[in-house]
Amino acid sequence: MPPRVLIVDDEESVTITMAAILEMDGYSVATALRADDALAQIEAEEFDLVLTDLRLDDFDGMDVLAAARRKSRETVGIVLTGYASLESAVKALREGAYDYMLKPADVEELRATVARGLERRKLGEQLRARVADLEAANRTINELNEGLQDRVARATAELQARVRDLDEARTELQSSYEKLQELDKLKSQFLSIASHELKTPLTALLLSLQLLSRRVEREAPQNSSLRAQVLRCESAAVRMSDLIHALLDVAQIHRGRLTLNVRELDIVETVRRVASGLEVTHGDGDGDRIAVHAAGPVTARLDPLRFEQIVTNLLSNAVKYGAGKPIEVRVDRDRSSDVAHLEVIDAGPGIDPTMQEKIFEPFQRVTSTEPIPGLGLGLYVVKLIVESHGGRIAVDSELGHGARFVVDLPRAGMPQPLPQ
Ligand code: ADP
Repeated sequence: MPPRVLIVDDEESVTITMAAILEMDGYSVATALRADDALAQIEAEEFDLVLTDLRLDDFDGMDVLAAARRKSRETVGIVLTGYASLESAVKALREGAYDYMLKPADVEELRATVARGLERRKLGEQLRARVADLEAANRTINELNEGLQDRVARATAELQARVRDLDEARTELQSSYEKLQELDKLKSQFLSIASHELKTPLTALLLSLQLLSRRVEREAPQNSSLRAQVLRCESAAVRMSDLIHALLDVAQIHRGRLTLNVRELDIVETVRRVASGLEVTHGDGDGDRIAVHAAGPVTARLDPLRFEQIVTNLLSNAVKYGAGKPIEVRVDRDRSSDVAHLEVIDAGPGIDPTMQEKIFEPFQRVTSTEPIPGLGLGLYVVKLIVESHGGRIAVDSELGHGARFVVDLPRAGMPQPLPQ
């Protein structure tokens, strides 16, 4: 739609000329010779630009402009004035007219002034639209911001609640842990006291049983059932004594009281001695169930009694669980890393892979070996002793294909801090 222009002047020739010029520029032009006509037209429609003489009969052109601007704030006002009222033109500008033109107006000046006025109106409109856009964006941002603040506040509250829960859980855990530690200490103390208390009467019992056994041998050699009964008592007492010693060891190690008396030791010699001792006790008399392989002496700095305990435990397990089949022991020396290497190999039922780690934990036994008596402490004690010498123990086994226990000990002796 072309811009709407209203020309108000009481000289008809002026309105006609100006209207003709502006229509040629493509505007839609209305004219009024009188103020009341102008006001009626303004009332009826919105004009983009009003060009008015300042002095209309007895009416002030500024009132026409004011009416136009009341109708639409965007309407641009231009006043026409003669030299004599230049002052009032300046006043009109102060009161909000956009521009003024002196009469008689020059054609080019008229076209340029009207074009400028309309351009300003367009810019003003654009500016207002931008401002409106910005205000809308601002409102959206404010709403988002409020939403965000709300969410942040909710999340913060949730987080604080969680932190409180965690704090409570941590306090509970801490107190449970302290209780557990206390119980653990009590357990070790109990184990230690109980085993000590049991050791003395049991030693007396063992001694009496040995004396009784010798007496029965001497005085009633033909009474085989009595001999067998005494032997059963004796072996039960020996088992009980082994058990009590194992419990004492565990209690001692747990309380950090395992002192190692380390010295240079020929471990091949210890292995052979323990093996032949076991052959005598458990063997069938041939003395060839346990084969010891060693190229020559292998020395290491170890506690002799504790090392003997390692070998005894591993070998008696091999005898116990080895299904009566031959047992092999290999002793070797790994020159490059200066490690003494011990392997105890049996051809028994082997150990389920899921249990291979567990058997080194206290009181762990494999169900398949349940009928064979044991407490599940031997390998645990062995592991603790090996580790307190700075060594390592592992098992390699496949169900149905025997078991191979491997012990590596540093030859130079490197006591490590005890596991707690
Ligand atoms: P214990 O022999 O007193 O039960 P250990 O700690 O010496 O305790 O052994 C733990 C478990 O490991 C045993 O109960 C047994 O099930 C299994 N085990 C140990 N050595 C062997 C082996 N050579 N062959 C098969 N199973 C074994």
